[in-house]
Amino acid sequence: MADIFTGPEPRLGDLLVARPALSMHARDGLCFEGVPLNAIADQYGTPVWVYGAGSMRARFAALRDAFRQQDLPVHIHYAVKANDHLAILDIFRQAGAGADVVSLGEFLRAQRAKIAAQDIVYSGVGKASAEIEAALSQGVGQFNVESAEELEMISALATRLGSTASIVLRMNPDVNAGTHAKITTGLAENKFGIPAADVPALYARASTLPGIVIHGLALHIGSQILSPAPYAAAYSKAAEMVRALRAQGLEVMVLDLGGGIGIGYHDEPGMNLAAFAAMVKQTVGGLGVKLLLEPGRYLVGPAGLLLASVVLQKQAGKRFVVLDAAMNELMRPALYESWHGILPVDPALFYEPVSPGDVVGPVCESADCFAKDRELPSLPPGTRVAILDAGAYGAVMSSTYNARPRAASVLIDNGQVMLITPRQKPEDLWMDEILP
Ligand SMILES: *Cc1c(COP(=O)(O)O)cnc(C)c1O
Repeated sequence: MADIFTGPEPRLGDLLVARPALSMHARDGLCFEGVPLNAIADQYGTPVWVYGAGSMRARFAALRDAFRQQDLPVHIHYAVKANDHLAILDIFRQAGAGADVVSLGEFLRAQRAKIAAQDIVYSGVGKASAEIEAALSQGVGQFNVESAEELEMISALATRLGSTASIVLRMNPDVNAGTHAKITTGLAENKFGIPAADVPALYARASTLPGIVIHGLALHIGSQILSPAPYAAAYSKAAEMVRALRAQGLEVMVLDLGGGIGIGYHDEPGMNLAAFAAMVKQTVGGLGVKLLLEPGRYLVGPAGLLLASVVLQKQAGKRFVVLDAAMNELMRPALYESWHGILPVDPALFYEPVSPGDVVGPVCESADCFAKDRELPSLPPGTRVAILDAGAYGAVMSSTYNARPRAASVLIDNGQVMLITPRQKPEDLWMDEILP
């Protein structure tokens, strides 16, 4: 995030060095997982989302192995909202992950990707009764309950359906995750979770309610967290809570540690996974609870990029590089002022002298800007750029604003490129509309 990163802007070469899945070749130009991006743009057009299955598997394995090193079993539930593509859910299912969902739509998607209902955790501050009913009747593994009101609602619905809901209570630990205000969720002022002071009474109540089996606690303090410190504060509070509940004679068997593990959007390292796992072991490892983790961004962010073409370069006091991709594809810069690395794909351009320019899209909003005063070489019309680390909270947030058809998506797997979402046709935009 531009507002919390304080280092100097990385140079193009630094961006490349920090990302082993990217390489620059004298003839083929910029490659991702060994595949030339120009070849993908030639075949599928631009803008196009490019995902790397190898990167996703490697990131999943790195996280799993960090906990294996600590001899600490954790169950990884991929946070579907980061990137909900069926092909991506399939990769994580095969790797052994469950899913964390925040809507019935995500629940159904996860099931469509053959993730068993039992392996799905259902979070979210406003689950509607129809959503709860549908998930319950499909046998959802766990609801993360965010309020007293929701607890009563789930109890009533489960009782009526003659089923039993497995739940945990999401406690709000009131810690500052040190991240962007729009992605902080664990402060008392945020809408998420149950204030710690209310947890013991609500836990006791849940253990008496019909239709409910309470297994433990959950917490999720925010997103794009780069240091173990805020987690340590939150997990210590959770451990304290587990001990307090047990002292009251209540049974606690599950602790859902949430997601939020951050990645390096510049050339800084992301979360140190070894330090993270060691911190988890130290704070909650001795509780004898089943541990769940809900990472999203960490698993998919660096495993995807948005490939775009330059429409034109405009001189208007300053240089504007206008792309054929826009905020309707990647909204993060407009929504969070987030910083994404941008690399030219052409090998000759990569080594040209750089000068500042704004990289923008064609949408009629001033917020439609990917980068301000970015040091880039001259980028002639028709040349391509890669907008990096766009695998998380990219395509899922995209829209068809300005009647821009949805971009295509491809997946690279072992050097093979597969189309996983065709480019939308303009007439698809109004296909479902009714003209009176
Ligand atoms: C968004 C979210 C996650 C995933 O967050 P990341 O920052 O992508 O890891 C996990 N759990 C819950 C409850 C969330 O809302």
